[in-house]
Amino acid sequence: MQNRKCYCNSQKNYDECCLPYLSNTTNPQTPEQLMRSRYSAFCTENIKYLVDTHYPLKREEKEEEILEETIKNTQWLGLKVLKKEKDKKESNIEYVEFAAFYQANNKYGQLHEKSKFIYENDKWYYVDGVLLEPIKIGRNEPCWCQSNKKFKKCHGKF
Ligand SMILES: [Zn+2]
Ligand SMILES: [Zn+2]
Repeated sequence: MQNRKCYCNSQKNYDECCLPYLSNTTNPQTPEQLMRSRYSAFCTENIKYLVDTHYPLKREEKEEEILEETIKNTQWLGLKVLKKEKDKKESNIEYVEFAAFYQANNKYGQLHEKSKFIYENDKWYYVDGVLLEPIKIGRNEPCWCQSNKKFKKCHGKF
């Protein structure tokens, strides 16, 4: 088993965090676990997992090709889970807000999204997300890339 830290910045080992989900050993029990494992699926190029955990009614016709294209052009560098929320009316709907950091075409970028999740047929699914303005990171905060350096000494330099 791999003894590396998980891609999703949980500080847990990969085989005790997202790997059991990505290898279909078990299903995520919470929307946050699903969100984290989907991030790790992007990092490990697990397209099948990304499609399987996308709510069937929301899947695109050529979803696998779209995902392949995204994965080819993007290198994911870090993840911050910011907020979790339950839907006020529907008990099987929850939201997770996160910021994911990436490099694409030699530029750094941030995906700040509030994702919607639904529980159906004993499983959590990702439904869709609303894009938000990039979050501000303080220059003295730890960098999001797990380097243990301050932001200003790491990716904040760019
Ligand atoms: Zn993880
Ligand atoms: Zn960094």
